[in-house]
Amino acid sequence: MELGLDGRVILVTGGAKGIGASITKLLAAEGARPVVLDRDETALTAIRAALSDVITIACDLRDPEACRDAVSDAERRAGGIAALVNNAGVNDGVGLEHGTPERFRDSLRTNLHHYYDVAHAVLPSLKATTRGGWIASIVNIASKTAVTGQGNTSGYAAAKGAILALTREWAVELLPYGIRVNAIVPAEVQTPLYESWLQTFPDPAAQQAKIVDRVPLGQRMTQPDEIASMACFLLSQRAGHITGQHLYVDGGYVHLDRALR
Ligand code: NAP
Repeated sequence: MELGLDGRVILVTGGAKGIGASITKLLAAEGARPVVLDRDETALTAIRAALSDVITIACDLRDPEACRDAVSDAERRAGGIAALVNNAGVNDGVGLEHGTPERFRDSLRTNLHHYYDVAHAVLPSLKATTRGGWIASIVNIASKTAVTGQGNTSGYAAAKGAILALTREWAVELLPYGIRVNAIVPAEVQTPLYESWLQTFPDPAAQQAKIVDRVPLGQRMTQPDEIASMACFLLSQRAGHITGQHLYVDGGYVHLDRALR
């Protein structure tokens, strides 16, 4: 299937590692020109070594000014931006009982504010791209915690819930321009972030076995390239009539009745 991504400049936040890196690599394989915004310098070096035509911008997206500067830098170096994948985030475990109001606000800065800040900065470019005849779009990476809860992660869950709401809100606001906005909702994905979370348990392997046993389809983790496939499809011209949707790529984790297996 021809996705029509050839030569298109696409921003991927947190695109140097985990789910974001898989999206970056698949976009490059489809002929697009990914621009990676990430704070992990080692991971940025690795992605530059893996891909010849990638642009990387080292920045901490928690700073609104850094978001604006990164978008300007991307436009200067790559030209007009055709699409955005908002992906950077950290499940930082700021709970109600054991958190603090300050840490809660800080978690929203880590997980929510830059989704708006980058989208706001990139919007004029997306509008210009769409006027030029290629339908621009935004893909927001959310999390199952937005709809299931997790416990002890109020900031992250609130951010991810807001991201689902913003996906619908932006889909409506951007209808007049023809720009599409969708969200992907992952559950249990094998990434560096997930690995480090597992290491917080006394027996990480036993904890992972317990988790995968609860995944209805195949009793296995979702792989980052399975999220990337959905992201590339949603960004492509093949998804031209899909907007405002929350797509669950989770092996049935959220919606299927586990009693059936
Ligand atoms: P990951 O392995 O940690 O990769 C994320 C990348 O984004 C890292 O390089 C990280 O750098 C970078 N990043 C994070 N915050 C940043 C910031 N403020 N500025 C610049 N770069 C930043 O994470 P992942 O598991 O792929 O997660 C990607 C997205 O999927 C997140 O939004 C997460 O909430 C969502 N998600 C993941 C899962 C899962 O099971 N893995 C499930 C549901 C949702 P650092 O390493 O320095 O933080």
